[in-house]
Amino acid sequence: MTKAKFRVGNSPVHGRGLYAAVDLGAEEFLLDYAGEVIDWNDAQARWEAADGDPDHTFFFDLGDGRVIDGGSGGNESRFINHGCDPNCETIDDEGTIHVVTLQAIPAGAELFIDYRLSLDDDSAEAAAVYACRCGSPACRGTMLAG
Ligand SMILES: [Zn+2]
Repeated sequence: MTKAKFRVGNSPVHGRGLYAAVDLGAEEFLLDYAGEVIDWNDAQARWEAADGDPDHTFFFDLGDGRVIDGGSGGNESRFINHGCDPNCETIDDEGTIHVVTLQAIPAGAELFIDYRLSLDDDSAEAAAVYACRCGSPACRGTMLAG
């Protein structure tokens, strides 16, 4: 049995988060971002159906107008919070999104990726929903791509 590399816990940043369960090395594969692949229009509709509560939406932007809905058939990857100075990155391997560490991460630390959402909506409402409060000195104040 290999020990789990991560665990889900309550995050001070946003809802639940994913945490390193053991000391992780740099460039270590963690898991794939799983879920149903849908387009942004469907994602927006689902988001509105969830009454705009971002706790009930888990979208990973594929950058081509499609997103992965981690809330539908997803795995623990959907709990990874956005951070502007992340310790993990995502690598797109022909549509399969690998979540990989950027650096050594001590056991107990929260895992972050930079969502870089390319939302086709520049309304103040969207800006408020996707506002970032990661607390990093490098925080750009939004989960949207700059
Ligand atoms: Zn931030």
